[in-house]
Amino acid sequence: MVKAIVGANWGDEGKGKITDLMAEHSDIVVRFQGGANAGHTIINDYGRFALHTLPSGVFYSHITNVIGNGVALDIQKLADELTGLIQAGVPAPNLIISERAQLLMPYHVLQDAYEEERLGGHAFGSTKSGIAPFYSDKYAKIGIQVCDLFHEDRLREKLSHAVAIKNILFQTMYQKPPVDADALFQQLLTLREVIRPYVGDGVSFLHQAVQQGKEILLEGQLGAMKDPDLGIVPMTTSSHTLAGFGCVGAPVPPTALKEVICVSKAYSSCVGSQTEPFVSELLGPAGDELRRRGGDKGEFGATTGRPRRVGWFDTVATRYGCMIQGATQVALTCLDVLGYLDEIPVCTAYEIDGQVTKDFPVPAQLEKAKPVFTTLPGWKSDVRGITRYEDLPAAAKAYVDFLEQEIQVPIKIVSTGPKRHEIALRP
Ligand code: GDP
Repeated sequence: MVKAIVGANWGDEGKGKITDLMAEHSDIVVRFQGGANAGHTIINDYGRFALHTLPSGVFYSHITNVIGNGVALDIQKLADELTGLIQAGVPAPNLIISERAQLLMPYHVLQDAYEEERLGGHAFGSTKSGIAPFYSDKYAKIGIQVCDLFHEDRLREKLSHAVAIKNILFQTMYQKPPVDADALFQQLLTLREVIRPYVGDGVSFLHQAVQQGKEILLEGQLGAMKDPDLGIVPMTTSSHTLAGFGCVGAPVPPTALKEVICVSKAYSSCVGSQTEPFVSELLGPAGDELRRRGGDKGEFGATTGRPRRVGWFDTVATRYGCMIQGATQVALTCLDVLGYLDEIPVCTAYEIDGQVTKDFPVPAQLEKAKPVFTTLPGWKSDVRGITRYEDLPAAAKAYVDFLEQEIQVPIKIVSTGPKRHEIALRP
């Protein structure tokens, strides 16, 4: 059976923890989109890890991990991550890197940085890891696949074609030095050796695994709001963050995807540009306090260290997020974080031009949206580590009931702390 674990919101919902937990009973964990621009935080017996490219199943010896063709593969970063695991004493993972995945090149990183510099104050808040130029090149058909690394004539030809285009852009538009295609070619041949043992036919492997009835987890990066079609355009990422894209980026047949577990935090957090509409945002000292108490070490980006914007739970955005993900259930994380509050506002509608709506609007309207709050009582106690749902205080359970009613998807998992087993299954 294929299950996807994806984000209902802006990313950083705690998918890594839920994937790590569910991986225990899986045979295969697959990354199907995105690159090393975001990270999952996983805390287990080996320590605390921020995974950027590696699938979250790498801590289990019984799991085969797949980096699917939909991923933007930065080989250098992957190599660094593998080294980090081995240094921490984690056994070498079982890993397949799809030969159809494309390579995120040093020139993508440069282009990303040059473009943010050119945009100045109008920048999109890119992490400057080359993701947007990478996916643009994929669709412009000048991307280079992992399999090309093993066909040197083809690699040289594709590289010189791509570099010629980049150099016109870099020198003319950005007034920057050109890229040396020969030096890059040599660099790629060196990096090729790092990934050589892992490169394989991810497509056949996954299709056979589906036929054999294996338990397969698709692991999403970022969240529904960041999808370039259905998210908050243009403050999105450049690959599809929706479970449905797993059918392309992993890939698995569409009919094989049976469960979509949408992860959402018990409050909101959003990393990226300050100009992105974030309706339920909590500013000032109250926001600082939530940011400081959030997650396992405060709400700061796992990859970038940037402070995340925080706010109250937004049922308008989350219901839409769950809808476009096709959620069959929700995992609600970080419930423990809210234990300090006397009362907890929940954004249950938006007011746009004097009209109140519960439907998530198009980006052009979202900018004008003001939050409408319903305030619930807090539970004023520490629920960290509670594993029996019935042991939660009544007000905490009432909070979960209320969110479920608003988002219209069953909340089946409630996470009460960052550690693997700090979790309560909701009866
Ligand atoms: P992901 O990209 O969706 O995996 O999310 P991140 O790992 O970037 O951010 C989630 C943060 O919340 C991490 O610091 C996790 O360790 C932490 N976290 C996950 N679940 C819980 C929880 O139930 N309680 C608390 N306090 N922290 C959690």
